[in-house]
Amino acid sequence: MRYTKLFGKSVIRYTGHRKAYAFNLLEKAGYVRSLANGLFSMLPLGQRVARRLISLILEEMEELGGQEVAMPMVNPHELWTSSGRAQLIEREMVSFSDREGRKLVLAPSHEEAMLDLVRKAISSSKDLPVLLYQIQSKFRDEDKPRGGLIRAKEFLMKDAYSFHRSYTELNNFFPKMFAAYMRIFARCGLPVFPAEAGVGYMGGERAYEFLFESPRGEDVIISCNSCGYKANREVAISVKDSQPGNPRGLTEIETPNCDTMKKLASFLDLDLNQLAKPLVYKTLNGYCMAVVRGDYTVSIEKLSRVLGEPVLRMATRTELELFGLVPGYLSPVGIKNLPIVVDETVAESANLVMGANEEGKHLQNVNFGRDFETAYVGDIARVRKNNICKLCGSPLSEVKAMELGHIFKLRDFYSRSMHFTLPDDESKFPEMGSYGIGIGRLMSAITQHWADEKGIVWPLLLAPYPVHLAGIGNMISVRRAVEDLYHLLGPQDVLYDDRRESGGVILKDADLLGMPLRIIASRRTLDKGEVECTDRQSGESEMVPIDLVPRKIAEFTASKMMEQEAFENSILPVVKETIDQEIDF
Ligand SMILES: [Zn+2]
Repeated sequence: MRYTKLFGKSVIRYTGHRKAYAFNLLEKAGYVRSLANGLFSMLPLGQRVARRLISLILEEMEELGGQEVAMPMVNPHELWTSSGRAQLIEREMVSFSDREGRKLVLAPSHEEAMLDLVRKAISSSKDLPVLLYQIQSKFRDEDKPRGGLIRAKEFLMKDAYSFHRSYTELNNFFPKMFAAYMRIFARCGLPVFPAEAGVGYMGGERAYEFLFESPRGEDVIISCNSCGYKANREVAISVKDSQPGNPRGLTEIETPNCDTMKKLASFLDLDLNQLAKPLVYKTLNGYCMAVVRGDYTVSIEKLSRVLGEPVLRMATRTELELFGLVPGYLSPVGIKNLPIVVDETVAESANLVMGANEEGKHLQNVNFGRDFETAYVGDIARVRKNNICKLCGSPLSEVKAMELGHIFKLRDFYSRSMHFTLPDDESKFPEMGSYGIGIGRLMSAITQHWADEKGIVWPLLLAPYPVHLAGIGNMISVRRAVEDLYHLLGPQDVLYDDRRESGGVILKDADLLGMPLRIIASRRTLDKGEVECTDRQSGESEMVPIDLVPRKIAEFTASKMMEQEAFENSILPVVKETIDQEIDF
């Protein structure tokens, strides 16, 4: 490809989104362009990288026996009502009506549609198991799109769905997909680690995320350096300290202007763990009050599990007032019209301070069981750094990470709600799994991981072109030699910078664009019959006789493949160990 003919070039004076380094590089170098907030176009260079990522992912899906399908991006709304997810995801899902007045949605994922496809296609349980996948754009109306490709409203993803005759069959398959995911990221040269995650609005029994450590990541992972335990903060577990004691008498105290935990703790000169924090949430079918100790925050994922109903968001001030509750001074004491969910530390600690449901007043010495009660007691608190690992007793740490893939063991969550039974045994609901990878986000993570201060550095396997070729100087002899080399190496594998620009501009752009091997000819090199070959990643240069350039490329490719193989081999035993020992599928 001649650079002068390439659509979408590097931007000279680029003023990007400052906070998203990888995205800025991709946009500056001419791989992607922003259309509007959360909406991006792939330019030819970016599309070549995306194609390589897709073909790598497809290979792994085919290896598992997967078959590619393509489903409509637009789904009937009733499909989403039938699974019960329409309400759960209402705010993120765009819905509209067609000219006949049928309500439609832009599907943010395809569990329902895929189930419908399988349900109509199979005639016997012998048609299962089946693994279907697609590469498709999804639209999620994110309230805060950010980080360029990291959290876009419309994004390309590979989504796969498996259907099984039994739980055992799903359980046998799930680790295979887990391993395929680790292989995909290893082949991208990315150090990615798995962690247990929340199921969110996908539903089901269990989920794992595949994470890339990044200070700009949106996920907080609780990690144990001693035993290797890793889980998303929303589902992580830890040892919790309760403070049991002899209950003292309940008293009401004046606490003016103490509508936050911090203000209350400092006013009463108490530690946060001597206070309790009641919060009200909107659930799928109503509301609930959650009570955690003052030193914890609520995990919506854990709260949903203990309550047995999806929790959507915090209640608004107006909603609180509808229940006669006083914001900042909430209390579970005397509450009759709301289900109350209590964290185990609150249930097991004595003499806590919490609101009195009256402006400027709190209750002292509140004791669970005596002053208020509920059947919903469990772990609803988010683990924090320095909490103690439940598996080995070491202090836990927090790691910020970016989620690159997510796999869900959905079990019969969808088949039950959508009444999909095995054709030859109507008492059995097929077991389901769902598996996603965002292509743009993956591209962004790869860029971030490999880039240096000069620009992008593509791993050979993913580079739009393996070779970046250029001639420096306007002499006819240089031009001719580079043209000859271009034709010899083949336009498909070479990005040829054929501009008449200065050496500085050409080298700077070669660094920015990030092709793995740079070949430069100038009068100085050609006088010796040579060209200069530079490894973009290591920066090492070597003078190579022109007629040996094809051999040099072959050697370069072989050495990069060996490096890649060594990296994969260093990751994959860890994967096996994780699957065998730590993760109980
Ligand atoms: Zn541990």
